[in-house]
Amino acid sequence: MQRTLSIIKPDAVKKGVIGKIASRFETNGLRIAAMKKTQWSRREAEQFYAIHKERPFFADLVAFMTSGPIVAMVLEGDNAVAKNRELMGATDPKKAEKGTIRADFADSIDANAVHGSDSPENAANEIAQIFAGFEII
Ligand code: ATP
Ligand code: MG
Repeated sequence: MQRTLSIIKPDAVKKGVIGKIASRFETNGLRIAAMKKTQWSRREAEQFYAIHKERPFFADLVAFMTSGPIVAMVLEGDNAVAKNRELMGATDPKKAEKGTIRADFADSIDANAVHGSDSPENAANEIAQIFAGFEII
């Protein structure tokens, strides 16, 4: 059993597809162990994406992730990290496989509908930044 962090980004929340995205996880063997709607301050977004702070798109990424509410989820299941990445599709929705979340709900590489942890170690760090232990059930 593994845990990963999923975030429904501001573009997908604005489109009203929280339920459709959450349903993809539930119908594909990922249990929602925690769920929270929130809006990040600039500081929270910068901390969350600190691994990207030298990348040219960092400022745009922070601006986008603070532009509206997000929905964070802890997903639990066998191979949850890889399974979530598979359901998400490629970072650039134009390159995402048909039937993936990004192919179906994302518009661009910036507004790409979802975030997913890329390793079990990063998942544990990311989950701890957003959820207290008692919120994960
Ligand atoms: P995420 O971390 O959001 O799940 P990812 O792991 O597929 O996405 P990363 O390489 O970690 O992609 O990049 C983090 C986010 O930064 C991407 O989701 C995207 O919104 C943005 N991003 C990545 N590469 C670019 C780029 N070349 N131009 C603009 N934005 C980008
Ligand atoms: Mg990433």
